[in-house]
Amino acid sequence: MLLHAATSNPGKLRDFGYAAEFQRDDFSIRPLPGLAGIVAPPEDEPTFEANARVKAAYYSRHAPGRLVLADDSGLEVAALGGAPGVRSARYADDQQQAQRRPLDPALTLDERNNAALLASLAGIPEGARRASYRCALALARDGEVLHSAEGCLHGVILTAPRGSSGFGYDPIFYLPECGFTMAEIDPVMRMKLSHRGRALRNLLPLITGE
Ligand code: IMP
Repeated sequence: MLLHAATSNPGKLRDFGYAAEFQRDDFSIRPLPGLAGIVAPPEDEPTFEANARVKAAYYSRHAPGRLVLADDSGLEVAALGGAPGVRSARYADDQQQAQRRPLDPALTLDERNNAALLASLAGIPEGARRASYRCALALARDGEVLHSAEGCLHGVILTAPRGSSGFGYDPIFYLPECGFTMAEIDPVMRMKLSHRGRALRNLLPLITGE
């Protein structure tokens, strides 16, 4: 069975590329053809699941008959009341607007988001830096959401980045039981542990006879 991932995020696409290596061999996930030419829908729902459902339904209308997989995901930090949450991709921009601080144009979006998060957590001790990655996946065809599932991963936010693989908040997201950040592990292990891998493992058994 072929699922088409409606995401242009290279980190998410790389994760999905490794999915088949630890899942079942009767499915594969490929990028949705023509995605770059489709105007993105607004992502302004209050939950990851609602955003994933909106994206899956929307993109599937542009790909008649295909099973379209959408991912909405992000980081929730307990000491920040669950922020950045559904605003994870836009955290630095939000903080910059709230505090009228200039953005450093030399940094990538991910670097800016990490710097903004570290600034928000400045002075917060290690024991109070708990965080969770959350991922919601939704599968749709012809505008109708067929299934959805979620996965999460608990960790701690470091005070400085470590590692160069992964994307987003991975260099500062540390797994205390494993002794590494999500930017220090190999891609197969990453999908075994990650919120995205867990969401996928929860979703696949729901897909039968589509
Ligand atoms: P969206 O799902 O496209 O709205 O954005 C998700 C954002 O959450 C990304 O841009 C990252 O900042 C963050 N994020 C989601 N999943 C991961 C992950 O697996 N690793 C690191 N950051 C992630």
